[in-house]
Amino acid sequence: MTLQRRIRRRAPPQGAVADQDTQRDAARVIARYGSEIDILSGNGTPIRVQLRRRVDDVVCGDRVYCEEGTRIVAQRAERKNQLTRRDNFDRHRTIAANIDRVWVVVAPHPEIPRQLIDRFLIGILNLPAHPGLVINKYDVIDAPTERALETVLANYQNLDLPVLRVSARTGVGLEALRAASAGGSNILVGPSGVGKSSLIQALLPQENLRVGDLGTTGEGRHTTTTARWYPAEGQAAWIDSPGVRDFSPEIGTVDELARGFPDLAEHADHCRFRNCSHRAEPGCAVRAAVTRSALPAARLAAWLEFLSVVEDLPRGR
Ligand code: GDP
Ligand code: ZN
Repeated sequence: MTLQRRIRRRAPPQGAVADQDTQRDAARVIARYGSEIDILSGNGTPIRVQLRRRVDDVVCGDRVYCEEGTRIVAQRAERKNQLTRRDNFDRHRTIAANIDRVWVVVAPHPEIPRQLIDRFLIGILNLPAHPGLVINKYDVIDAPTERALETVLANYQNLDLPVLRVSARTGVGLEALRAASAGGSNILVGPSGVGKSSLIQALLPQENLRVGDLGTTGEGRHTTTTARWYPAEGQAAWIDSPGVRDFSPEIGTVDELARGFPDLAEHADHCRFRNCSHRAEPGCAVRAAVTRSALPAARLAAWLEFLSVVEDLPRGR
């Protein structure tokens, strides 16, 4: 059956989003430029195509269908997830879609930002996507820092969280990162200066990503958010853009917060009260788990810290 007939038969009359089982013939969106996008062709080269006005909601990582024999996008496939950020006018902008893994990059100096890791975990698990932790600049780590790092990492032992020690400078650990990123789309996020641009460049040596132009200049800079999809070996892909690297998750509701703490949730099922806050309620299985060292105390502390933040948010968000 031709693609066109398939679209006619299955698409809702006005719909710009196709259903799951038509996704086989979709092409990956590499990048968006206004009303045009680049899609990945069968042989890996980009093809510039035009968006119809009614299919405007298309970003890097989306999958789209062209009208047969044309360079016009007729539909976008349904998204698995999407990464959004707030622009300068407080509007939510979608930067990239269909993200499988989000790697939080940190550097061991000056210290491991535990709170930052916790916050990113909440954001990533709510996308939802698989989180991972990349400890970069491992070439310059010393013994005391390694011990401090071990202490922080022990907090995450009950989570499905791969931790990779790497160096963009020496290449140590990059093979492990390549292997762990195989078979899906990946992005690197985290604070500036930890080496995200350097890592992306090291992972994609054939691409010219202009390391050093971006990412080290701090807060007020004007951030372009044109994300780009880079196919990589092992059926992997890397999504990169300053906007993606700056991704800073927002915490909205207690339910979202709970999704960021699957290691607590496992115990919370046994709390006497279904909506137990794990602060002081009787029969709290989470506090009991901490007491018998089945859950790191730092994870409960992190939960309580973020819970206060969420409770203080204005209602009706
Ligand atoms: P980004 O802001 O996260 O994109 O960080 P950059 O990639 O711009 O790197 C910030 C600084 O850290 C640069 O001076 C890099 O040369 C340096 N850097 C990046 N990766 C490593 C590494 O693995 N080891 C060391 N020693 N320095 C690194
Ligand atoms: Zn409880």
